[in-house]
Amino acid sequence: MGAEGRVPAPEAPIAANLRTLGVNARPAERLARHTSFKIGGPVGAFVEPADEAEALLAARTAFEQGVPLMVVGLGSNLLVSDRGFDGIVLSLARACRGVRRDGTRLAAGAGVSLAKVAHTAAGLELSGVEFAVSIPGTVGGAAVMNAGAHGRSAQDVVQQVRVWDPARGVVVLPRDAMQYGYRMSRAQQEPWVVLEVWFDLTPAPREAIARTMRDYMEHRRVTQPVGERNAGSMFKNPPGDFAARLIDAVGAKGWREGGACVSTLHANFIANDGTATARDVLTLMRRVAAAVQERFHTALAPEVRWVGPPEGEDGTTWDNLWLPAADA
Ligand SMILES: Cc1cc2nc3c(=O)[nH]c(=O)nc-3n(C[C@H](O)[C@H](O)[C@H](O)COP(=O)(O)OP(=O)(O)OC[C@H]3O[C@@H](n4cnc5c(N)ncnc54)[C@H](O)[C@@H]3O)c2cc1C
Repeated sequence: MGAEGRVPAPEAPIAANLRTLGVNARPAERLARHTSFKIGGPVGAFVEPADEAEALLAARTAFEQGVPLMVVGLGSNLLVSDRGFDGIVLSLARACRGVRRDGTRLAAGAGVSLAKVAHTAAGLELSGVEFAVSIPGTVGGAAVMNAGAHGRSAQDVVQQVRVWDPARGVVVLPRDAMQYGYRMSRAQQEPWVVLEVWFDLTPAPREAIARTMRDYMEHRRVTQPVGERNAGSMFKNPPGDFAARLIDAVGAKGWREGGACVSTLHANFIANDGTATARDVLTLMRRVAAAVQERFHTALAPEVRWVGPPEGEDGTTWDNLWLPAADA
């Protein structure tokens, strides 16, 4: 689902509307509570339904009333505006949390964490999702982002995806309909709510799967600032290169804007020291992208997704944020 929005009106009636329909909606919840960056202003309504029927009612209501809707997983790939999001933010953590097996396939609810899927698969002696064990997102977020690590990504194991589509209702889409690319899927352009994902796995000894997962987790612990407030890789790797290498090469490690700092451990990570605003992060991203553009003539594209007013915090649109700015 696309990340877009407007600035919340002072008394957004969205939450009250939903509550009259029996949907559990919290007004003015700050998205900082729901993102790994710990950044983000208030939403019109934060909805965490108890079951799928309530989730679909919230989604349908948003669509019918023309209210912007976005789904949040673990918020691990999001940069949310300090001004928030004037719409409904839907969390499927409670509504879509089951994992079930059918032969060598595993069906997982969109709100299930990737770590849980990986460990469940290991317990069932099914291989294929080991790569996901240390990606701190949900099944829904991974299906949308085509999350990946260690040379594999969601597209290698997703068999089909059950989504709610405003035009068609609940439909099951084969993997090809997701049109996967590097950290890309069609779901990023469509108003879909991913409800459940089927993974096609292969039988393998439990100990071998567990060993691979331990190796992956150890690799991450050594190479990434685990435990800090961040959103993973800020920029996609350009073709044939690594964003982290380019950012490191321009000497950006340790660069700081307000409370945001380019990680000294992994150059493609930006850490929030606890005081950073979205504006700090945007300013730092732009500075980094401009330096890489100037030195390597390579345009970095953001991997992290922006949520908030399209013009960003400083009047710059998200789409042209990455062009060298006159004052950068
Ligand atoms: C420390 C750290 C390390 C990371 N390492 C990796 C890595 O190795 N590889 C990698 O690929 N990513 C990595 N990430 C980024 C992130 O974890 C992944 O992109 C992950 O798939 C996002 O999942 P999420 O549930 O948190 O989604 P969110 O960040 O909450 O959302 C991401 C996008 O998906 C949409 N979305 C989420 N759920 C649904 C749904 N059910 N239906 C419709 N749309 C939905 C959102 O609207 C948003 O547009 C890392 C992040 C951190 C903080």
